[in-house]
Amino acid sequence: MASQKEVSGLQALFGGTFDPIHYGHLRPVEALAKQVGLEKVILLPNHVPPHRPQPEASPLQRLEMVKLAIQDTPLFTIDTRELEKNSPSYTIETLVQLRQEMGATQPLAFIIGQDSLLSINTWHGWERILDNCHLLVCARPGYATQFSDPIMHAWLSQHQTLDPVRLNQTANGYIFIGNTPLVNISATQIRKKLNTGDSCSELIPDAVLQYIHQQHLYQR
Ligand code: ATP
Repeated sequence: MASQKEVSGLQALFGGTFDPIHYGHLRPVEALAKQVGLEKVILLPNHVPPHRPQPEASPLQRLEMVKLAIQDTPLFTIDTRELEKNSPSYTIETLVQLRQEMGATQPLAFIIGQDSLLSINTWHGWERILDNCHLLVCARPGYATQFSDPIMHAWLSQHQTLDPVRLNQTANGYIFIGNTPLVNISATQIRKKLNTGDSCSELIPDAVLQYIHQQHLYQR
C-alpha cells in the first residue's frame, strides 16, 4: 500500500472501447462519482483493445461518440492518449505513464465494471495495477459478485476498502466496490439491435444515436 499522506483530489479514469458509449457506462460511473466524491472522471477510449475483437467503429468515430455523450455532463472529460497510439492499449502501460506524470503521491483510480474485475487476472501486467492506482468497481447485472478462484478472492479481500476517504488519502492500492445501479446494457447488445433495426433510444444518448445513424454505423 502507498503511504498515508494528505494530497489533493482523487483523479479517476474510465477506460473502454466505447463501441458505442452507452448509459451502462455513464449511469453507474455517475453514481460511483457521487459515492466517492469524484469531481472529474476522465474517459480513456482504447485504440486497439488487446483482449477482444476489434471495434466496428473507427477510433475517430468512437471518440466523436464519447464527445457527444458527455457534452452536457461536466463530470466527464476525455484523455485521447490511447487512441493516438497505433499499438495495443495495455492499461498497465497507461497507468505507469500517468503515475510518472502525476508523481508518487497523487491519488489515482481506474474505474471498471464487475465483469472486468472478474477477469482482471487475464490483463497484461495486472499484478502491477494496484501499485499505480486504486480500482473502483461498478456493479454490472449478470456477473458474479465474488471471485470463484480462491487466489483472486484473497487478492480482493487483501485490498478491498469500504471507506472512500482512504481512496483520497492514499495514492494507490485499494479496491472499492461501489453501490451503483444495475444497468443492463452492453455495446454488443446495442450493435446487434442497430443491426436488426431495433430502437436503442433508451440505451444511448440521443446525440450519439443521431451520429450513429448519420455515419451508417452498426448496420447490415
Ligand atoms: P462490449 O459489449 O462491446 O464488450 P461493453 O458494453 O462491455 O462492450 P466496454 O467499452 O468494453 O463496454 O466497457 C468499458 C468498461 O465499462 C468495462 O470496464 C466494463 O466492465 C464497463 N461496463 C460496460 N458496460 C457496463 C454496464 N452495463 N454496467 C457496468 N459496467 C459496464
